[in-house]
Amino acid sequence: MLVGLVTACSWLSQRFEEEKISPSEQTTPKFPAERNFLALGNPSGASTNFSTNPNNVLLVSDAYVVSYNNAKLIANWAAWRLTASDFGDAGRQNNFRPNPVLPSQWRAVTTRDYTGSGFDRGHLCPSADRTATPELNSETFLMTNITPQTPELNQGPWEKLETYSRSLARRDVDLIIYAGGAGSRGRTKNGIFIPAEFWKIIVVVSAGADISAVNRNTRVIAVSMPNLNGIKESNWRDFRTTVRQIEQKTGNDFLSNLPPDLQNFLETRIDTR
Ligand code: MN
Repeated sequence: MLVGLVTACSWLSQRFEEEKISPSEQTTPKFPAERNFLALGNPSGASTNFSTNPNNVLLVSDAYVVSYNNAKLIANWAAWRLTASDFGDAGRQNNFRPNPVLPSQWRAVTTRDYTGSGFDRGHLCPSADRTATPELNSETFLMTNITPQTPELNQGPWEKLETYSRSLARRDVDLIIYAGGAGSRGRTKNGIFIPAEFWKIIVVVSAGADISAVNRNTRVIAVSMPNLNGIKESNWRDFRTTVRQIEQKTGNDFLSNLPPDLQNFLETRIDTR
């Protein structure tokens, strides 16, 4: 009983600590260079201030960043960099949980919201991209990184592209990645927005390079996959598209930190490798 009381007290003091920090007091985060996940741009101008636009809130983790949408109850997009040092011995933590940074008056999605929905808990930033430490892996299981994906998308071409990406990053390149949803298939029975498609943009640079290394020879992989069943055996390459098409579907501006000419060139070319 004493243990229970101590636990309750520490829980209460933790709650009190959390409530002292007003979300609106958060300022624009400063990133170390290798963790500047938005080096190529902030595609929707997401802000860390929860009250600027609750449907475009920048949530910052050491593992990735997302633009969270409180109306949709999922992220608009996630961004991260994948490099050889992201791979380690940490196992899949599997600790799906509500994101504690959301304002207390917002609905924080729980893993149970997906139970019986017919949809997988689809990671935007994949668990297997973050195995350097258990803490970093655990960050990928925050529900703000999770989206309703059909089992055949999640376990089919979406996963195949993730696996291919890791095979590249284990060699001599880094990947700068954006991923998110577009369009609508309505909502799950618990009210979670279901995108009609999931897209991903991957910019391949040499290991450790900053964006000044991006040029007309830079490989840019853009895909948009339907959030449907019946595609489990499909090749991810069959879903290649242009960045420009994803911009038109989402209203986002990707690669906005590149010079306009280069941006235009890379955004209108389809990967063929
Ligand atoms: Mn653009």
